[in-house]
Amino acid sequence: MRRVFRLHLQLTPGVPGDNGEPSGEPLPGALAARLIAAGAPLGVQRVRLWGHHLEAYPDLSQIASACREQDMGLELAGEGHEMFALAQALERAGATAPAGIRLLLRGACEATHDHLSVDGSFRRAMQAASYCFARKVPLDIVVEIEPANRSEIAEVILLAAALRAERVVFALPRLAVGGVRGRPFPPPNAVDEHKRELERLREAFRLEVNLDIGLREPDVLLGCRSLCLGDLSVNWCGQLTLCQELWGPDSGDGSDVVADLHEVTLPEAVKELIARITTFRQERLRDWTSGGLVPLDRFFCYYCHRRFGKLRWTEQGAGRAWAPRQRGSTTNSPGPGHEA
Ligand code: SF4
Repeated sequence: MRRVFRLHLQLTPGVPGDNGEPSGEPLPGALAARLIAAGAPLGVQRVRLWGHHLEAYPDLSQIASACREQDMGLELAGEGHEMFALAQALERAGATAPAGIRLLLRGACEATHDHLSVDGSFRRAMQAASYCFARKVPLDIVVEIEPANRSEIAEVILLAAALRAERVVFALPRLAVGGVRGRPFPPPNAVDEHKRELERLREAFRLEVNLDIGLREPDVLLGCRSLCLGDLSVNWCGQLTLCQELWGPDSGDGSDVVADLHEVTLPEAVKELIARITTFRQERLRDWTSGGLVPLDRFFCYYCHRRFGKLRWTEQGAGRAWAPRQRGSTTNSPGPGHEA
């Protein structure tokens, strides 16, 4: 299957899992439109929109028309209950039906989902799924594995099949918002256990069941989409960042920011991104081969969050199981064949 090259635009400060009321001016529509136009000659085929309550974002029509002019598909990703209102707002703004919706579900039933999200959110998420079916919009269901939905893994796959989803993706909750979720982050060993269960289950279903890159991986050279230049990620401040997974309330040491797109063109920023990715991958390999790892670095995204200083939330409370430990620690041992 041909790889899709995506431009991720975070239009407002929020990311899935961070349900606070972050403040800040949204990404200006004129800048977003300029980036969409500049992305086309680079080969960008899809634009994926991120943020909270985007149905109220003032410049949706500018984004819709920029995508139309470049013949680029527009995709939506985020909390399931926000997707229907956003898809409708986009259509009112002149966009065609989305090229895809990536809908975050927090459980297989209303009680679990609403408990982990907000009241009434499951029904609104189902409305979004019905919209996808009616409008023939490809639907991905994303589920973040956590203690409260752990027993519903198989039911989620069945629900996704009933909703005619193209695939269901199981992921670690976003590490970048771990400290603001207001509920326990699943401990690493429990995530490994879920992963093993999912690997068994995926054999039993015809629906495509994917495991997200953020889970523990034995392949040290594995490259995620961001590190293989399959994604360009622009945050609400107008900065090109290494990866959208790193967006969250803690800006860390800021070194995941590659360029300010208010100041430089997209091609100039991408040139810098290529240099950063090359250095980052070389340094990651060096760390892997020289034993400069903590055990949890085998969780692919964990290494990045640790490296960019975004794990301060793990220093206290329920997140402590994810606190970076020293090399050689036996806690959360990565298992046979992994450095510890
Ligand atoms: S956090 Fe790192 S490993 Fe995870 S998707 Fe982003 S760049 Fe890739």
